[in-house]
Amino acid sequence: NYDFLVVGGGPAGAAAAIYAARKGINTGLVADKFGGQVSDTMAIENFISVKATEGPKLVASLEEHVREYDVDIMNSNKANSVKRNQATGLIEVSLENGAVLKSKSVVLATGARWREMNVPGEHEYRGKGVAYCPHCDGPLFKGKSVAVIGGGNSGIEAAIDLAGLVEQVTVLEFADTLRADDVLVRKAKSLANVTIITSAQTTEVLGDGRRVTSLRYTDRLSGTEHDLALAGIFVQIGLVPNSEFLQGDIELTNRGEIITGSAGQTSVAGVFAAGDVTNSPYKQIIIAMGSGANAALGAFDYLIRQED
Ligand code: FAD
Repeated sequence: NYDFLVVGGGPAGAAAAIYAARKGINTGLVADKFGGQVSDTMAIENFISVKATEGPKLVASLEEHVREYDVDIMNSNKANSVKRNQATGLIEVSLENGAVLKSKSVVLATGARWREMNVPGEHEYRGKGVAYCPHCDGPLFKGKSVAVIGGGNSGIEAAIDLAGLVEQVTVLEFADTLRADDVLVRKAKSLANVTIITSAQTTEVLGDGRRVTSLRYTDRLSGTEHDLALAGIFVQIGLVPNSEFLQGDIELTNRGEIITGSAGQTSVAGVFAAGDVTNSPYKQIIIAMGSGANAALGAFDYLIRQED
């Protein structure tokens, strides 16, 4: 049995494990894939105090730091349910391989995944023009033309944000109207270097083998095909929290994010959550790490108040 068990091995989970282990409590970390989204990231330029790094490099440092401590790391293991046993007060984490781990406290840090366009070229040019995070990659496209896919709030926010950095922003929305809040749409429309195209179905990302050079889309009204010359494509069609396995057991928002209090507590006593899987508004590495530390301290506070 653990005192503290982390589910997830991204920046939030790693930070939580280190904070817990430094309290001298029996700590475990179970992860489907240690490193999380950071493993899939090329350039990272906003991890404060490190001017520039790469995802795999940061993952190696994260793992090295966690391994400095006595943390039981169970990699390549997926959790499929988390429940509190009312009789024992222990949290039971079931794994896909059939094992059940028991712990006095748990931090859920299972992260999220960007919804993809699912068109040819998207994977090939990921990190080579295809981007998902304007806060992360916006500055890489200074003086260039980019597209934003998606006319919801995140798409229009991204367009407004990018308009201040890049030469030209074209927003492509599949539906015939934008779903974003009116105030954002008005703001985007007032910007000289933002163009909005509705009823546009993106069909292919084209490049020269090294980088993106254009984006192909079909005008759904006329059926005509168009190629937009550009250097970057920001896909903003949703960030999906990895919380499906918690449905019915832990309180989630209607978007599936775990609802957390200020110390990371969830609707279940002893279960805390951190990082991109929670309802925190901004999803970034440095924020996930802070959130993991916060939830670990929240859990420690909970543990010292238990009588056993
Ligand atoms: P994640 O990193 O998503 O980690 C989740 C962990 O949980 C993984 O270990 C996963 O395997 C595990 N897991 C999931 N489900 C289960 C389960 N059922 N059982 C067990 N384990 C499970 N942020 C920046 O600050 N700067 C950047 O430059 C930047 N660039 C990015 C580029 C890309 C391409 C992407 C995708 C993201 C980028 N981000 C960037 C965002 C950043 O990576 C995330 O905000 C951060 O990784 C969130 O950390 P997390 O620990 O909450 O979740």
